[in-house]
Amino acid sequence: MSDLQCDLLVIGSGAGGLSAAVTAAHLGLKVIVAEKDPQFGGTTAWSGGWMWLPRNPLAVEAGIVEPIEEPLAYLRHELGDRFDEARARAFLEAAPRMVEFFRSKTALRFIDGNAIPDFHGRTPHASLGGRSLCAAPFDGRRLGKRIADLKPPLPETTLWGMGIASGAELRHFFNAFRKPASLWYVTKRVLAHWKDLLLHRRGMRLVNGNALVAGLAVSAFEAGVEIRINCPARRLLRGSDERGERVTGAVLATPEGVIEVRARCGVVLACGGFPHDEQRKRALLPHAPTGREHWSAASRSNTGDGLRLGETAGGCVATDGAQAAALAPVSLVPLVPRADGSFAHFPHLIERGKPGLIAVTRRGQRFTNEADSYHDFMQALLAALPAGEPVQAWLVCDHAFMRHYGLGAAKPAPMPLGPMLANGYVKRGTTLADLARVCGIDGDALRKTVQRYNAQALAGKDDDFAKGETPYNHMQGDAPFAAERGWPNPCMGPLERGPFYAVKVVAGSLGTFAGLKTNDHAQVLDAQGQPIAGLYAGGNDMNSMMAGHYPSGGITLGPAMTFGFLAAHHMTGGEPSP
Ligand SMILES: Cc1cc2nc3c(=O)[nH]c(=O)nc-3n(C[C@H](O)[C@H](O)[C@H](O)COP(=O)(O)OP(=O)(O)OC[C@H]3O[C@@H](n4cnc5c(N)ncnc54)[C@H](O)[C@@H]3O)c2cc1C
Repeated sequence: MSDLQCDLLVIGSGAGGLSAAVTAAHLGLKVIVAEKDPQFGGTTAWSGGWMWLPRNPLAVEAGIVEPIEEPLAYLRHELGDRFDEARARAFLEAAPRMVEFFRSKTALRFIDGNAIPDFHGRTPHASLGGRSLCAAPFDGRRLGKRIADLKPPLPETTLWGMGIASGAELRHFFNAFRKPASLWYVTKRVLAHWKDLLLHRRGMRLVNGNALVAGLAVSAFEAGVEIRINCPARRLLRGSDERGERVTGAVLATPEGVIEVRARCGVVLACGGFPHDEQRKRALLPHAPTGREHWSAASRSNTGDGLRLGETAGGCVATDGAQAAALAPVSLVPLVPRADGSFAHFPHLIERGKPGLIAVTRRGQRFTNEADSYHDFMQALLAALPAGEPVQAWLVCDHAFMRHYGLGAAKPAPMPLGPMLANGYVKRGTTLADLARVCGIDGDALRKTVQRYNAQALAGKDDDFAKGETPYNHMQGDAPFAAERGWPNPCMGPLERGPFYAVKVVAGSLGTFAGLKTNDHAQVLDAQGQPIAGLYAGGNDMNSMMAGHYPSGGITLGPAMTFGFLAAHHMTGGEPSP
């Protein structure tokens, strides 16, 4: 067994790991990142790349200035008994400094989320905008040959492998056949992508989470960080020196054989939580009694290794969160079988809030405000179903909706719908009764539900679930499209003319919340609440500071970036200033 020496060993190459790696390298440490997959980036590379970072410099420069007490009070209301003021303050104080550090000292750039509201507009101190940032589009050519090692975006969320940025860019794609300016934008974008495919065999204009990972990876390489792919960590090393007993490194399985990596300052566990660890899912997700009834959209390589490694060193996984995962409705896409024969897990993040869609259980009844967050949607579904019933619902729309917005992995016109009908992903019925029969939904109830919903949509008021009434709902809707049709509510349109379509959604997640208990420096804590020397947790290996609540978009990546930054400062004994 050969040996490698470094100051910091980071295990996992998502936002949690790379933030710590880049910061530590700028503070003078020799850093190695070990990644289990053949490509780096993890779920972060598939993500929207949005980060909840209140009081960030881009918001302040736009005149959105709020005291720390404002987001703190929002979190206090949202998290209730589980609110941990020390960690919340540590996060909120460091977040603006983290952004300033990355934008001034590294290759990573940000775009603002100044118009993006918090999820729960009725909670006191919720914001209308200015608390989030996204990674700015990034030129993949800056990675040089290492572009081949960057995990591409989740195929089902792309167009021929081209990532589409949320916000204005996505609106252009929806409006491509309605507005000349949008058609022009989309044509240019697609032609540039095809050119990239010819020259580089992949898109080079990186957006969303792919841009975040690329920006972090370029920053890491420029600062001398070594990112080793195909190197799963198998076990932690412990030892003692003049500082006492501590974690001193890890054993990695590399393509060249097993090696020991000794890390003078410590190890950061950032393996992305347990979204594909059946045993942990069985223990922590009540809706997944065998561990298999939960189809996470997170990276398949996130099999709970970090949590297990942390436990071997005395760490404890929190079990007291409101939810153990960032829940999301997911559909199973048979079109793109993976190498292991399983299906793609498509997370429904975008179309649920658009006008003209409803979600029903097999009883043919709505159960929630479809325009609420994916997490709230799933919580409502879990609450609506009798105990023991398989967790599933149907997203239902008419032909006009299907061709304008698409439904899940079925893309809008002009992309053909035929393959998704042929493989059974999309169900179709000439009438609602036909559709109900094909899906196994109570037909009579579905007809009544649609009748009632259509009347409400024309009146613009959802008397059952208040759809379209919060700023977040508005953002998820499509006000211009609804207004053109005389629909007063941006999230509500009638389901009028067949054929009608449906896609089944099941329980899934964007990642997991329950993780190793840490303090506000990201140090892993033992059963007595004492820090384990030399051991830190980042990203979803760290128990979420939101304690299983989901108050806003970006609440995994924002803290992942910030606590990675804090961990690096702690291990070097420095103050977190940019
Ligand atoms: C479609 C989608 C959109 C999303 N959008 C957003 C968003 O906009 N904002 C937001 O906040 N969140 C979003 N999320 C959730 C977010 O992406 C994840 O919570 C986040 O990326 C987790 O970061 P991480 O660093 O913990 O893990 P990851 O990014 O998953 O990285 C973990 C890495 O560790 C590696 N690894 C695992 N085991 C080992 C081992 N033994 N040795 C070495 N390496 C190992 C894995 O291979 C992986 O590459 C989204 C998720 C999805 C699926």
